Amino acid sequence: MQAVFDGHNDVLLRLWQHARGGADPVAEFSEGTDKGHIDAARAKAGGLAGGLCAIYVPSGDLVLKTPDENGHYATPMAAPLDHLPSLATAMELADIAFKLDRAGAWRLCRSVEEIRAAMADEVFAAVLHMEGCEAIGPDLAALETFHAAGLRSLGPVWSRHNVFGHGVPFAYPMSPDTGPGLTEAGFELVRACNRLGILIDLAHITEKGFWDVAKTTDQPLVASHSNVHALTPVARNLTDRQLDAIRESRGLVGLNYATTMLRPDGQENAATPLSDMVRHVDYLVERMGIDCVALGSDFDGATIPEEIADAAGNQKLVAALEDAGYGDAELAKICRENWLRVLGQAWHEPA
Ligand SMILES: [Zn+2]
Repeated sequence: MQAVFDGHNDVLLRLWQHARGGADPVAEFSEGTDKGHIDAARAKAGGLAGGLCAIYVPSGDLVLKTPDENGHYATPMAAPLDHLPSLATAMELADIAFKLDRAGAWRLCRSVEEIRAAMADEVFAAVLHMEGCEAIGPDLAALETFHAAGLRSLGPVWSRHNVFGHGVPFAYPMSPDTGPGLTEAGFELVRACNRLGILIDLAHITEKGFWDVAKTTDQPLVASHSNVHALTPVARNLTDRQLDAIRESRGLVGLNYATTMLRPDGQENAATPLSDMVRHVDYLVERMGIDCVALGSDFDGATIPEEIADAAGNQKLVAALEDAGYGDAELAKICRENWLRVLGQAWHEPA
């Protein structure tokens, strides 16, 4: 079994939604559930040893637009969110993360050393990530507090516009060059993350925003849960030029398990074969090299292939990669070592 440190999940969102319905998030995670993708037992069964756990403020019920007769779709952008309600929701999601930590259901990690220690102890190693920074506010007033609380990664935007920049819509086929890049506040956020040691995640941002971050940051370029545009031309996937820039910075791309981002036809369809996942990994490895490819499942945030089904099925992807010819050392890089190297660099840790 290859221990996996995964680049993106939305388990906090699921636990928060169920908590609003009266469920106990600590019990749901530690005792297990048949809902969603991740809990302690299923993570252990699938070798999901840890990952970046998103604080994500949801946009109501965003439903993918039904494809037309050509299989094309363009879901309208979600409306922008206000700062203060977003901050309140983000605090509630973070609160669940701390409750899980206090109860020993998982361990919140703030350094690579802490991640490795939790993995060795077989306790889920959670790192706090923020997906879309509406909660931070345009003057970055909440950034220091979230960093002090353990926030170690953030994406300035989700697939919606905010004071920091612009996100791409869920659309097929479409280029990621769908709008403007960073705002002045967005550039300021990138510089602040460089100073504090918070990883900047390029998933969901427009292509212009990607280049704005690339010319400003001193970190390796990272797209935590994105795939290959040449194989699946949705706006959320990365062009060859973007992949080349990620390679040059020695950053990484985490493979997203969302079927819309894996299938050649861009459809949401659980009957998606593992071969579609392997094809994206092969392309990424060929274009960027083995050091720049990792995993970013989007567990609890997307429709994923039914063969994997949930975190317990995670090693089926590893087995498929093994069958495709990847050896142990390569799989160790894809499954965890590339993530740990890049996180250490963004967090100003000695190599
Ligand atoms: Zn996402």
